[in-house]
Amino acid sequence: VWQRAYQQMSENLSAVAVKTWISCMQPLELNMQRALFLVPSNFQKEIIVSRYLDTIKNYLADTLGFPVEIEIETEEDRLEAEEAFSAPEAAQPAAPAANLTAQIDREYTFDNFIVGNANKFAHAASVAVANAPAAAYNPLFIYGGSGLGKTHLLYAIANEIKKKYPAFKVVYLRGEVFTNELIESIRNSTVVEFRNKYRFADVLLMDDIQFIGGKESTQEEFFHTFNTLHAEKKQIVLTSDRPPKEIQTLDDRLRTRFEWGLIADIQPPDLETRSAIIIRKAKTLGLDLPADVTDYIAGKLKNNIRQLEGAVKKISAYVALGERITVDLAATAIRDILSDQVPVSVLVERIVEDVARYYNLEPDDLRSKKRTAEVALARQVAMYIIREGTDLSLTDIGDVFGGRNHATVLYAIREVEGHLERDVRMKNMITDVMASLNA
Ligand code: ADP
Ligand code: MG
Repeated sequence: VWQRAYQQMSENLSAVAVKTWISCMQPLELNMQRALFLVPSNFQKEIIVSRYLDTIKNYLADTLGFPVEIEIETEEDRLEAEEAFSAPEAAQPAAPAANLTAQIDREYTFDNFIVGNANKFAHAASVAVANAPAAAYNPLFIYGGSGLGKTHLLYAIANEIKKKYPAFKVVYLRGEVFTNELIESIRNSTVVEFRNKYRFADVLLMDDIQFIGGKESTQEEFFHTFNTLHAEKKQIVLTSDRPPKEIQTLDDRLRTRFEWGLIADIQPPDLETRSAIIIRKAKTLGLDLPADVTDYIAGKLKNNIRQLEGAVKKISAYVALGERITVDLAATAIRDILSDQVPVSVLVERIVEDVARYYNLEPDDLRSKKRTAEVALARQVAMYIIREGTDLSLTDIGDVFGGRNHATVLYAIREVEGHLERDVRMKNMITDVMASLNA
């Protein structure tokens, strides 16, 4: 069926469109309701969904004689779903860790990590650890905002160690995966296996450790894993979106341990670094960006390297569709990137829900006229987060909460700023809500 529909499309659509976007779709499954496809990257999926979905649907419906929904999975997502990793050369079939499959992306290395003022400390520490595991800093704790290169550095450490110490068992996993696997193993009474899997590691790379904050049994388990590995002089590297002291409800014993070694932060890149990253990314995509376009992107996207890369990838996609590289095109690409993010209305809903849950209130309480101290405080906090996390105006924010005026909103924000100077719990809560928005 797909062959026939594909044939039809090749005859009727532009050759570039078919070749660039549609030919990469691999049909997986077809039934009366839906057609499932696999494509290599999330980016390809995005383009197909945003531009060709209806067309493909129509052609398929013509061929089939009835309409079906189209679903697309990506290899990228599948890879991400399988987290754990161990060096294949080091495989000792008997050891439990050996069944962790290789999932470290080999493309992320120190060679293609661009060093600037904002990340040079974290970079140097990572190199030191990779050169001499457990001899330099243990643990190494890297923290910084989303999209600033923490995972890249962890992968680079893994790849470098694999090269230098092929026998080492390198385990990479995310805090969330550790948590989920633990819960699963408790349910299946396989905690011992779970434990052994990680305690056999020579190098443990734990990404996004902040996820274990507030989860007691996970922290307990990680505490023991940490102690075992550390006592055996195995290297541990942790990343987080914030420093240990700001991870909410982190057990003090763990916090202390995280601070034993070296703590390195990554800040948003400066202009030079941003430009270097854009140029590098363009080069790998075979793209020659004029200087004004590079400057334009570097000037617009300042806080997230993932977005910088995304903009270059978008431009490359447009070029494949025959567009010329201009500042206007870059502006469109950036708009695409930013609009790919969750719509503001959804963000606002999430913020109101999260804050309400935190204060044990109903979201509607916040939107209502109620003025009890607790509702009023929660509402102010929600206003503050919406102001920080979206580009809504004060008036817009007032509208979210039953048409309050902008002076009220401004007052609320000032109030919260005042609280934040004294109230660490509130600060943590707000950081958590903000972080979950970017996730
Ligand atoms: P984080 O884990 O901190 O959210 P990532 O490591 O996933 O961020 O980085 C996001 C993207 O930006 C990745 O594609 C990564 O390769 C790229 N990146 C981040 N920092 C750099 C850098 N210094 N040089 C080159 N690419 C970088
Ligand atoms: Mg990451």
